Amino acid sequence: MERVFDERRYLIPFRSSLLPQIFTDVLVVGAGVAGLRAAIASAEAGAEVIVLSKSDLAHTNTAWAQGGIASVMEPGDSFDAHIADTMTAGAGLCDEPVVRRVVEGGPARMRECLAWGMELDLEGDGTLDAGQEGGHSARRIYHAGGDATGAELSRCLAARATGHANVRLFGQCFLLDFVTASEEAGSRVLGAITHHPRFGLQMIWARSTILASGGAGVVYRETSNPHVATGDGLAAAYRAGAQLADMAFTQFHPTVLYLPGAARSLISEAVRGEGGAPAGRRGPAVHARGARAGRAGAAGCREPGDRQAAGPAGRAARAAGLPARRGFRGPVPGDLVAACQL
Ligand SMILES: Cc1cc2nc3c(=O)[nH]c(=O)nc-3n(C[C@H](O)[C@H](O)[C@H](O)COP(=O)(O)OP(=O)(O)OC[C@H]3O[C@@H](n4cnc5c(N)ncnc54)[C@H](O)[C@@H]3O)c2cc1C
Repeated sequence: MERVFDERRYLIPFRSSLLPQIFTDVLVVGAGVAGLRAAIASAEAGAEVIVLSKSDLAHTNTAWAQGGIASVMEPGDSFDAHIADTMTAGAGLCDEPVVRRVVEGGPARMRECLAWGMELDLEGDGTLDAGQEGGHSARRIYHAGGDATGAELSRCLAARATGHANVRLFGQCFLLDFVTASEEAGSRVLGAITHHPRFGLQMIWARSTILASGGAGVVYRETSNPHVATGDGLAAAYRAGAQLADMAFTQFHPTVLYLPGAARSLISEAVRGEGGAPAGRRGPAVHARGARAGRAGAAGCREPGDRQAAGPAGRAARAAGLPARRGFRGPVPGDLVAACQL
């Protein structure tokens, strides 16, 4: 068995028997929403869990998510409407049974987050404040801290996960490769070899391994993703014999703030949902497909300025140097996106 690990072509040569050995029931690679939720489920089922994060919890796509979480929570809305909107926005590429399962599972996941202490934004009367984004025909986007939904979701899930005695979070710990029993396709994953700046190389042996390392947005020059999104988890899975599917589906935000040398701050879809229109210096249509999506998304919206600005609009306004702050409650100018691009 030892020879297999020594001779296989991994990213780096290593001798497993000479490295520190760590054992666990479940190894979760990734501490975003997917990894943390998987860790909670595993721990609550009685397993010992190690969660790897190659950076800290503030640098995940999850922590950077802004506009909110789409879910059917109001009597006037319906699963069928949310599914229909999703199928339309998916332009024939969505798998309807999967869409149905995700949409119908939404309210229970929302109630779970609330029960675990997630603080969503409320209306004055104490009910949840829902926004509307591109592609949605109803106000069903629930947000926290205005445009800081992901940070609050990450805080809530991390607290729940790390508060469990069975969960150990290894920060700054980089997955180099999955270890498999052989190079045969379908060979069982036995754990991983990792690198930590302080502890060096380590072998982590696990009965089950869950890959939740997020996407690969950073392979593109322009991206709204944090620096962790380099796809190395996908590459490690590929080297271990996994088949990668749907690699064309990379999240691309057509409305980032594009200024030379500046960070690519996202001007959220919520701006359009609230009535903002994508426009460039020379005219109204910044991005033909984006503009179409904007029209579809705005179809069920009130007129610009008719609705009080949601948090993302406040962020966009701040980015543009407009007089806005968190909790900004002014009317949304219809050309807010254009203002941000000047
Ligand atoms: C700016 C922005 C705004 C967004 N807004 C929204 C929104 O409003 N609503 C919405 O639903 N979605 C939004 N999204 C998308 C959403 O954030 C992601 O789809 C979701 O967070 C992905 O979660 P994840 O757990 O799969 O990955 P991530 O949250 O990216 O987590 C990946 C984890 O894997 C770890 N990792 C990666 N490689 C390794 C490695 N080699 N070794 C160890 N650990 C590793 C990372 O450290 C990290 O902990 C937004 C995304 C961005 C970037």
